[in-house]
Amino acid sequence: MIQLELTQAVAGYVLLFIIPFLGVCIFTFLQKKEKSNIIQYTLWQCSICAFVYSTVFDNNITTCPRCGSYNKRGEEERAE
Ligand SMILES: [Zn+2]
Repeated sequence: MIQLELTQAVAGYVLLFIIPFLGVCIFTFLQKKEKSNIIQYTLWQCSICAFVYSTVFDNNITTCPRCGSYNKRGEEERAE
């Protein structure tokens, strides 16, 4: 039988149980961090010049970067 000192037994216990637990904690933390970093872009097509552009903010009305006309959300849904 292998003889273990108390400190070795405690160290083995830490290695076997606490390190995998910490690994799971770090993994779930990184997953949550990834989700919070996702920026949702909204695609728009201009109803005047048909230029396709994207916006970061979820607005109901946007301005076309090419011709400067306003585009409403309802018009965008019909364009698709
Ligand atoms: Zn336009």
